[in-house]
This record gives sequence, structure tokens and C-alpha cells, in this order.
Amino acid sequence: MTSATTPPLGQKLTAMIKPCPRLLVVDDHSIHAQALLEIFQRDHDVIIASSGAQAFEICRSSLPDLIILDAVMPGTDGLEVCRKLKTDQDTKDIPVILLIAWDDPEAETKAMEAGAVDIITKPINPAIGRARVNAHLTLKAQSNLLQSLAFVDGLTGVANRHRFDEGLEAEWRRCRRLITPLALLMIDIDNFKKFNDCYGHLVGDACLQEVAAILKGQIGRSHDLLARYGGEKFVCLLPDIYFDGALKKAEAMVQAVRDRAMPHTASKTASVVTISMGVAVTIPGPDRQPNALVSIVEAQLHEAKRRGRNQVCGQELAGYFSNSLK
Ligand SMILES: [Mg+2]
Repeated sequence: MTSATTPPLGQKLTAMIKPCPRLLVVDDHSIHAQALLEIFQRDHDVIIASSGAQAFEICRSSLPDLIILDAVMPGTDGLEVCRKLKTDQDTKDIPVILLIAWDDPEAETKAMEAGAVDIITKPINPAIGRARVNAHLTLKAQSNLLQSLAFVDGLTGVANRHRFDEGLEAEWRRCRRLITPLALLMIDIDNFKKFNDCYGHLVGDACLQEVAAILKGQIGRSHDLLARYGGEKFVCLLPDIYFDGALKKAEAMVQAVRDRAMPHTASKTASVVTISMGVAVTIPGPDRQPNALVSIVEAQLHEAKRRGRNQVCGQELAGYFSNSLK
């Protein structure tokens, strides 16, 4: 089994700070752009744009980690470019540092009002420029880390309950709009309380991590979501899959966990760790809420337990679009 320890936050943060962050420098004067290139090119991947229009084009093809933007440019000036970047869903979270003249105190206020995270005055002091850019890249990485932690189960590394609740609502709406099926799988480790009593909670944690890793290995598509529902329960949200396909997927999961042959001498079901699963599939209709799917899947999981565990029970929900279910 894998270790029950998770990497400390500091390590996670270091991993999130890229070794060579991508900086977009926007300045209409090539001499200024060149000076910025020389300051940052040693530790950063620097891209140069000479206008706001070019900056937007670059952002469309690949998002930079931070933007250094000249406030005074012909056409769309830096303040306007900054405002636009901050209203676009794709670019609003990229930190923007505005370059302003050292003798223009009003420009600083305007830069902050436009959504800049900081300013650097011209002529640039290279040490201050580097320090400010690095400080904001670190802050951004910290904010990304906090955001990701809010959706991740700390023990197993899969999505948490909060992420699942949001995913279920979103997929329900999407599948209803597209008239396509949505499958929900609920997974419970059999006799897990006995496992903890027998082997202790640290081994119990390692077992949860191992089962999460096995389940994760079984879901192949990027839009499938595996989450820890609580305790030794996991859920799996599979959009665009019909009942037969969802059952097959669930049976493969049950087998994969059993085949890993993690010893469980206290189990009443087998001498190894096993799981039971409920499956529910529907094409979401306007007359039903996502919770209906959760209730059915819980009942099916309960039925799998009642029939002796280490197996799958499933139900497809006849509903508004039931004729479309295949
Ligand atoms: Mg300029």
C-alpha cells in the first residue's frame, strides 16, 4: 500500500511555482521592451508584444503567468488593456503589473483602479522589477494552491464532497440541455470499520488511498469525476454513458479492487479488501432534481450490501426522457 502521508503545503507550493514562468511584456517602444527582456530573460520565458491588440492575441493562444504592461501606448493604452483583461473570464486571474512614469503620481491610482496588482516605475530598477514580479508569481501560486485545496480531499488526493456537489449540479444541467445520460456510481469499502479495528487507522488511511488510486485508474475520460463522498465512500460521476456502459465500468472497479488483494482478515466477505457499488443512470429531465439520482444510487448500494457485498447493483431511472434510454 502507499504511504498514508501527504506532501506538506510548502512542497506543494514549490511544485506549483514553475521553474521558468511565462511573462508577457507589452510596450510600444522596442528599446523599453528590450530592456525588460534583458532584466527577466534569465529566469523567465519572456514574450514581447508591442500593442494591446497583440497582447490579446498572445493571451488567446497561450496564457502567460504574469503580464508587464506599459500604461502609455498609442491606440488602446495600458490602462484600457488592463481593464479588458480583467473582464475576460480567461485572463482575469493573470496578475498585471503596469509600467508608469516615476513622476506621475496620479498614474499609480489609475493603474490600481484598472485592476493592476502592482506598478513598476520607469526607468526600471532591475532588482526591484525582479523582486516585484517574483513576489506576485509566488502570491499567484499560493492562491492557485488554496483554490485547488478547496476542491481536493486531503487524504486521497481525489476531488472532495464540495467539488462533487458542484460537479453534479453542473453535469445535471449540461446533460439535461444536451439530452444525454448521466451516470452516478457510489462506492463503499466493505467491512471497513472492521479493517480499521484490525489494522489501525494509519493502515486504514493507506487503504483509502490505495482504493482511490485504483478507482482513479479505472476512469479513463478527462470529464469523469471521482470524489470522496465521506468516510470510506466514494462517488463517480460519468456523463454521456448509458446504463450498460456504467454497469460494466462499475464491475471493472469491483474486480480491480478485489484483484489488488489487499489483506483483510477481519472481512466477512472475503480475505481481501472488496467494495460494493450502486449505479444509477438517467437522462435528466426538468421534473427531477440531481438529489433523485443520489437517493437511487444510495438505495442500489444498500441493495449490493444486502446481497452479500463485493458486487454491483444498478437501476436506470425511467423519467421524462426514459424512452431515449438505451
Ligand atoms: Mg509607451
